[in-house]
Amino acid sequence: MADPKGFLTTPRRDRPRRPVEERVRDWDEVYVPGALLPLVSEQADRCMDCGVPFCHEACPLGNLIPDWNDLVSREDWRAAAERLHATNNFPEFTGRLCPAPCEAGCVLAINQPAVTIKDVECAIADRAWAEGFAVPVPPDRLSGRTVAVVGSGPAGLAAAQQLTRAGHTVTVYERDDRLGGLMRYGIPEFKMEKRHLERRIEQMRAEGTLFRTSTTVGRDVGAAELRARHDAVVIATGATVWRELAVPGRELTGVHQAMEYLPLANRVCAGDLVTSPLSAAGRDVVIVGGGDTGADCLGTAVREGAASVTQLDIYERPGTVRDEETEPWPTYPKLYRLFPAHEEARALRTAPAAAEDSDARLFAASALRLTGDAAGRVRAVHLVEVDAERRPVPGTERVLPAGLVLLALGFLGPDRADGLVSGLGLELEPRGTIARDAGFATNVPGVFAAGDAARGQSLIVWAIAEGRAVAAAVDRRLTDGTTRLPAPIGPYDRPMRA
Ligand SMILES: Cc1cc2nc3c(=O)[nH]c(=O)nc-3n(C[C@H](O)[C@H](O)[C@H](O)COP(=O)(O)OP(=O)(O)OC[C@H]3O[C@@H](n4cnc5c(N)ncnc54)[C@H](O)[C@@H]3O)c2cc1C
Ligand code: SF4
Repeated sequence: MADPKGFLTTPRRDRPRRPVEERVRDWDEVYVPGALLPLVSEQADRCMDCGVPFCHEACPLGNLIPDWNDLVSREDWRAAAERLHATNNFPEFTGRLCPAPCEAGCVLAINQPAVTIKDVECAIADRAWAEGFAVPVPPDRLSGRTVAVVGSGPAGLAAAQQLTRAGHTVTVYERDDRLGGLMRYGIPEFKMEKRHLERRIEQMRAEGTLFRTSTTVGRDVGAAELRARHDAVVIATGATVWRELAVPGRELTGVHQAMEYLPLANRVCAGDLVTSPLSAAGRDVVIVGGGDTGADCLGTAVREGAASVTQLDIYERPGTVRDEETEPWPTYPKLYRLFPAHEEARALRTAPAAAEDSDARLFAASALRLTGDAAGRVRAVHLVEVDAERRPVPGTERVLPAGLVLLALGFLGPDRADGLVSGLGLELEPRGTIARDAGFATNVPGVFAAGDAARGQSLIVWAIAEGRAVAAAVDRRLTDGTTRLPAPIGPYDRPMRA
């Protein structure tokens, strides 16, 4: 660290966001362009370079955080970019989208605001592209072995990049018309502009990775045939089976799953559609589900010009400080967090039903039934307050007007209707995810599984870590039982808990 007293003299400063009134009028990222770089060296200098850096442990990729904080504080961007890419294939994705469990584990966070690790990561990644440090890294020689990766989300892309760079000939199969998995059609543009995705995919093409889009394995290409054609197969198909809302009225017109709604808005941004057929414009919107996916629906509905937006969260409103008994440092605590979308909804007062100090979220709220008009269109959500055991509190029933109801209740596991699981004869875990052993191998020889398809619904940082780890396992199988590829996690690793 350039300044050993940086953490004593410099307060934490986060990357500034654009004013709400400005950013809800476009789909660009919510941050002020160019405002991160002037801050970041000073912020990196707050890192104490601890003897035992818990941020390493808290990051599933094992990012070498104090190392690159030091390099950034000394303005050695090239070395910082090298150090960052040594553990993370796609730091511009995590630098924008990761919830940063590393910051919860930062030693400074014991009694001060943590180092802005995620912002530093994002700055290094962006600078690497701007300065031309992020160049294609093609293999020196080819192994003559071929690998099929099914699914182009962060797990599939990370696995493909690692295996291509190790010299194998990799083809990524993707059923969508564009690559990127949930980063393409789930996550909205205002959280990560798709140009970041395009740039990485171009880098991967230049390295030799092959891509086949609009190809559903199990339907357009037989799963067993694919296995027979390649020396190994990696299944990285995500957890796309959504959870349903089992209440009366679910069948009404105007009730949609988040992953029916968000892809259409992303297609508008991509120029495929002029307006979304499910646009929230002028409608009262109720989002059922309090997580990230619900927040993405919220930000999208606000930008589409919804008349009002309310988000129902079945959990009680969390506190603003960590509960030291149940979630002590360095674990990632459940706290009341104000995402940009919540900030927007609060500032625009689009949620007349929410509490005065709230932000469009109604906590401890559960939908009881949906009611509609004579034409079968949804008109209202009937809800009730629930206690910690999710039992309805008598006398708390209320009704919210609703012209669009979005369900964001989470995901159960990989798609089983497309013939991939059955075609290969893959064994599943009782909860519906693909079963695998300690080496990421499924019950079918030569077939491996990674990402949300096997881990269950998770995060981009875990998906990249899975992709890197499965690549090491595949490389070991394809070579003489050894590999030089790193495996940051095992298949059963989970976030740190008390
Ligand atoms: C709306 C939303 C917002 C999110 N926001 C965040 C966030 O801000 N930060 C964060 O860390 N995480 C976020 N997540 C979670 C994160 O996106 C996932 O954990 C991550 O994308 C999982 O990566 P994956 O590669 O395993 O699968 P996915 O990203 O789901 O990719 C799987 C791919 O496989 C393809 N596929 C499936 N079956 C087949 C087949 N048979 N043949 C060919 N292709 C197939 C799919 O079309 C898809 O493109 C969000 C999730 C959602 C739904
Ligand atoms: S990937 Fe996530 S956990 Fe790891 S250093 Fe970056 S922000 Fe932190």
